[in-house]
Amino acid sequence: MDQSIGQFIGQFGIRSIPVSSCCIQIASVLRSKVSFPGTSSYEATQESYWSIQEASLYPSCIVVPDTAQDVSEAVKILAGFPDCQFAIKGHSHMPASGFANINGGVTIDMTTLSSVTINNDHTVVSIGSGAQWLNVYTYLDTLDLSVAGGRNGLVGVGGLTLGGGISYFAPRVGWACDNVANFEIVLASGELTNANATSLPDLFRALKGGMNNFGIVTRFDLTPFPQGEILAGVIANPISDRDAVFTAFSNIAGSEEYDPYASLVTGLGYNSSVKGSWSIGTTAVYTKPESSPAIYAEFVAIPSTQNTLHLTNLSTFADETNTPPLNWQFFTGTYGVSANLMSRIFDSLNSTLYNLELPSSWVFWDIAFEPLPTIMTQYGDKNGGNSLGTSPKDGNAFVMLLSALWPNSTFDEVVQETAEKMTRDIACIADDMGLLHEFQYINYADPSQDPIGSYGVQNVEYLRQVSRKHDPKGVWQRQVPGGFKLGLKY
Ligand SMILES: Cc1cc2nc3c(=O)[nH]c(=O)nc-3n(C[C@H](O)[C@H](O)[C@H](O)COP(=O)(O)OP(=O)(O)OC[C@H]3O[C@@H](n4cnc5c(N)ncnc54)[C@H](O)[C@@H]3O)c2cc1C
Repeated sequence: MDQSIGQFIGQFGIRSIPVSSCCIQIASVLRSKVSFPGTSSYEATQESYWSIQEASLYPSCIVVPDTAQDVSEAVKILAGFPDCQFAIKGHSHMPASGFANINGGVTIDMTTLSSVTINNDHTVVSIGSGAQWLNVYTYLDTLDLSVAGGRNGLVGVGGLTLGGGISYFAPRVGWACDNVANFEIVLASGELTNANATSLPDLFRALKGGMNNFGIVTRFDLTPFPQGEILAGVIANPISDRDAVFTAFSNIAGSEEYDPYASLVTGLGYNSSVKGSWSIGTTAVYTKPESSPAIYAEFVAIPSTQNTLHLTNLSTFADETNTPPLNWQFFTGTYGVSANLMSRIFDSLNSTLYNLELPSSWVFWDIAFEPLPTIMTQYGDKNGGNSLGTSPKDGNAFVMLLSALWPNSTFDEVVQETAEKMTRDIACIADDMGLLHEFQYINYADPSQDPIGSYGVQNVEYLRQVSRKHDPKGVWQRQVPGGFKLGLKY
């Protein structure tokens, strides 16, 4: 070990976080790309976490690689220390504790690998896995091109794409991961390689839904398509008109002739500090430059308190403001499309939330409904296939994202119990109506849920086989504890 680095690290073994030998070894190779508690670069990463739960964990050191080769060097060292645990961080929009940060281990912060380039004939966009979607859209808008990615520009390319990815273009091109032409990836051995339809095709499919279970992706090569302006905005309605909104949503999401240019999220909001303070609104997008598409006529006819639909481009619409640090929690479920079910979901949420009071504090609840139409899921077996298990044979469905955000960590347990209860109650109602689907979208799931299990027995077995082949010692299973794992024993 380089003695001077050992001395340098010794000075910063503060905050009672022991400096681990793997940190010392990585620092001997990557030098200033490894930072320690008390340094500004360490704090910069810690402060960039989106949720309080993630920012409250303190790794022994943080590695900020500049190149894919740096990632490879770090993984080679980490794999040689089986007791050293580590986390992989993109733009940290998965809020659960430990998914992209770790106490006492090593956090690899990928956000410096954020370049976006395109090949000469504009058929492949290469995106550093640490980019945000806004970087991508800003670049592609100038070329009148786009790709399937996050609707909020602050979200990371890495997590969203490895978990599936619902974009405004989903009905036209499928999950974001269905549009990956190639993953550049560092495997458990530290080897930097490529997974695509012809090289490591088993890994190629496994990565589309497999999250951080197979390696660290350093670059995503995505297939772009021509794209001009879009119609986008928010329509807010009085909560008393919610049934009309649910009907309008269901008429679009459940249509046998789903309009491929229509993309919408209908959301309910509730602030626990004001009894009965429900709001309802829909983010409606039409991915063609049409100012009043017929598909939204029913929505537009409902009395609204706000309607901001306008023609714009994706980089402008996706340029959202960051939220202040808060605790966040996600829960999810998938259901067959029905306005009656949505109405019963509202009643069920209301009956729980009406009685929930947090002395001198608040929780904001946001319940979003997002179409999962068959014209989207049909892409699941194209381009090498994905591992999500969503299929047109399940019919048109919608995904629910139940989020809670709250400032005071004292209420963590209350929020967890309440969110679990509401998700359970909704599943019972949907089940009674014959509308409960098995699928749980991994990017919206709580650690108490089992999204990988929801991909179906065959997909789970497939993922395990691919893991045993490319990671025989279980580096990603044992040494990267954060995120949803494959349940393999070593
Ligand atoms: C405000 C907001 C808006 C959202 N909008 C959408 C949306 O429009 N569509 C949608 O589908 N989802 C959306 N999501 C959910 C989002 O897809 C997930 O939170 C996603 O996992 C975030 O990715 P990230 O890289 O920012 O997060 P991180 O928390 O950094 O990473 C998430 C997981 O992926 C792993 N990971 C990240 N990068 C890599 C890599 N390069 N190699 C291996 N593993 C990696 C991490 O280890 C972690 O376990 C949204 C979330 C939020 C909070």
